[in-house]
Amino acid sequence: MPGTNLTREEARTRADLLHVDAYDIELDLSSAREGGTFRSTTVVRFTATTPGAATFIDLVAPSVEEITLNGERLDEANFADSRIALPNLAAENELKVVANCAYTNTGEGLHRFVDPVDGETYLYTQFEVPDARRVFASFEQPDLKASFAFTVTAPEGWVVVSNSPTPTPAGDGPTRTWTFEPTGRISTYITALIAGPYVGVFDAYENGDQKVPLGVYCRPSLREFLDADAVFEVTKQGFDYFQEKFDYRYPFAKYDQLFVPEFNAGAMENAGAVTLRDQYVFRSKVTDAAYEARAATILHELAHMWFGDLVTMEWWNDLWLNESFATYAEAVCQAEAPGSRWPHSWTTFANQMKTWAYRQDQLPSTHPIMADINDLEDVQVNFDGITYAKGASVLKQLVAYVGQDAFFEGVRAYFKRHAWGNTRLSDLLGALEEASGRDLKAWSKAWLETAGINVLRPAITLNTDGEIESFTVLQEAPALPAGAKGEAVLRPHRIAIGLYELADGALVRTDRIELDVDGPRTEVPQLVGRHRPAVVLLNDDDLSYAKVRLDEDSLAVVADHLGDFTDSLPRALCWASAWDMARDGEMAARDYLALAVSGLGRESDIGVVQSVHRQVKTALDAYADPAWREQGLTRWAETAEAQLRAAEPGSDHQLAWARTLAAVARTEEQLGLLAGLLDGSVELKGLAVDTELRWTLLGRLAATGRADEAAIAAELERDNTAAGQEHAATCRAALPTAEAKAEAWASVVESDKLTNYVQEAVIAGFQQADQRELLAPYAAKYFAAVKGVWETRSHEISQQIIVGLYPSLQVEQATLDATDAWLAAAEPAPALRRQVIEARAGVERALKAQAADRAAGARALGH
Ligand SMILES: [Zn+2]
Repeated sequence: MPGTNLTREEARTRADLLHVDAYDIELDLSSAREGGTFRSTTVVRFTATTPGAATFIDLVAPSVEEITLNGERLDEANFADSRIALPNLAAENELKVVANCAYTNTGEGLHRFVDPVDGETYLYTQFEVPDARRVFASFEQPDLKASFAFTVTAPEGWVVVSNSPTPTPAGDGPTRTWTFEPTGRISTYITALIAGPYVGVFDAYENGDQKVPLGVYCRPSLREFLDADAVFEVTKQGFDYFQEKFDYRYPFAKYDQLFVPEFNAGAMENAGAVTLRDQYVFRSKVTDAAYEARAATILHELAHMWFGDLVTMEWWNDLWLNESFATYAEAVCQAEAPGSRWPHSWTTFANQMKTWAYRQDQLPSTHPIMADINDLEDVQVNFDGITYAKGASVLKQLVAYVGQDAFFEGVRAYFKRHAWGNTRLSDLLGALEEASGRDLKAWSKAWLETAGINVLRPAITLNTDGEIESFTVLQEAPALPAGAKGEAVLRPHRIAIGLYELADGALVRTDRIELDVDGPRTEVPQLVGRHRPAVVLLNDDDLSYAKVRLDEDSLAVVADHLGDFTDSLPRALCWASAWDMARDGEMAARDYLALAVSGLGRESDIGVVQSVHRQVKTALDAYADPAWREQGLTRWAETAEAQLRAAEPGSDHQLAWARTLAAVARTEEQLGLLAGLLDGSVELKGLAVDTELRWTLLGRLAATGRADEAAIAAELERDNTAAGQEHAATCRAALPTAEAKAEAWASVVESDKLTNYVQEAVIAGFQQADQRELLAPYAAKYFAAVKGVWETRSHEISQQIIVGLYPSLQVEQATLDATDAWLAAAEPAPALRRQVIEARAGVERALKAQAADRAAGARALGH
């Protein structure tokens, strides 16, 4: 029984057999306000290489009313198990399928949302990976491209957007019909439909004789917060930059960006109709890091219009290339595009993408960048830190290796050669080899076909005058976790070494050399005979992908002067290195806290500040010796309060420290401060206690028993929006009572009524680091329920539960034992197993880090 799965073999067989010409899709959304199901009529024309052969088309729908193949009515029993069997194909075929498809509330397929502010219904589709089949009968695989013509009937007064430009609707009465022009040849997963009383703002990208209409949409209830000009500005910078670098005009007729509700991912690259999560329409003050992240997402999706949409992977095993390219492209565009507000994007890349990749690459589930994707279940759990972040890091390394000019020259040839087609990795590598004259086979094998992270360490000896006598870069093979796939290898690294000196309290780079590192030892003769600098930084400029360790002397300087690097990138690299050491138990959690307390005051990069805040919280909650933890949390809370009071009024730093205090406040005075800010009896100059910050404050007060149901209800009264309802759900689930926990658990695990966003909100409130005892009984409940959840819920919904409700806060051997017992008894499917062993690895790592922290505490006491 395939269920909703599809194997690579099946896809390959079908692609060999079929060429799909065109789909005509009629959707009747006139009863969207009532929900339930909608009528979907698909007519698809395709040819078959072997007449008489059989195949199938995909459909996930409650029922089918008609299946007609080449004029002949087929029995509805041909629709079973999410497929329609198509026997006895002709050379030229026309298939008509009439189905009743269902609206969803999980963010998959055609999502239906009702805005509590206006009571109106808003729809949007999300099809990646295999969910176009929830809306129309489709050959659901990326290499069966076709032209798509949508005809949509929807309530009068609605806005309807798809891949092709929106036509003037026809008809009268309570509904209208929009008949869209056919698209170019694209894959099913990037088709799209967004419908509802959305509001739009319009502009155009103009360049010579080229004019591309631009639209930005959101719900009316968010319109007052929509800064469309900022969105257009970044979008136009991206158009300029990518068209020039790719030497290929934007390939679609218009470019709409739609901020939609309850969106699972950051955004989705539907051709010409990008959807984005509408938390990117900021209702309250956010830091510049949030604007930077939104701009990165906008550029990421725009890059996909060429890489992914115009030229598309043949099968999901090259998903990594698709996502890595777009992730690299977003950063390089922010770094280089004229007028970019975030030219320091490589700092953010080091701070966020690299950290994500390093974390993922040390999980037992780690895998080579080129993953084995045998079926759809494999790919759905592979939107991970390897696919996005390690892949992008390795592309950055490839650019350093072949040179940026050769890289883009290869990319240009690739787009011209494969426009509107499908490719494999070898097509891109071939183009890059031609452009660069470099053989990339060995490079590709070392970087793409093996898993894990190398460690680079400097080995420095000095002569009696304190000059460098020898300088060696040592490379270690990855420490692959037990059970990880692939062999541990050394790799060729193109790196820079930065030399830094202290001058007037600042750490300034005095020299930089670039070299190839290969094998276990690479001598660096260029540095012999030179004065030993204060700090030697391997992988400066973050060209390669490696864990970097500082030599002892450099580490001592950095411990006191991390905030004194004049550039943000070396600071980010040192923060990352310290965090990595803390995760590995090489730096005690209490020492990481001390570094953060001393270094953050001078850290100007707000994105880095916010990352370190999160990391300190993780270090204290998970990696600190439980016997010492409360001391650490107390110190961190005191630091947060002091920094909050000292921060420049109205600054991003002030807001970041306010949120951190709200996450960790524990004394009566601190909680009183939160309550005072919330009720207005306390004011901090420049700190706007706006809608989102109010919920953050209330969340902590609820979790600590200082706010009750009445307070939550009152706050929801003030902010009775979708976001407000989610925050209220978080607050209720956070209440420190057995009843609140039981209710939250039942609403998620024992019922399937919650939407994707409300469920996520409940889970976030349920898991509270200060409520370990209250949560302890749920470890056993988790293992009793998790397999059933996996088998009965949609992919997104089950993933939220499997990952989010794992007993991660119970850092003890018993949790590992219970997990192992479950793994042995439940025989979970690979994708389920993967999610559980990743969660287990977090507990295992925390146990080791706690031992390291305990040992450091014992040393400090002189035991
Ligand atoms: Zn992407």
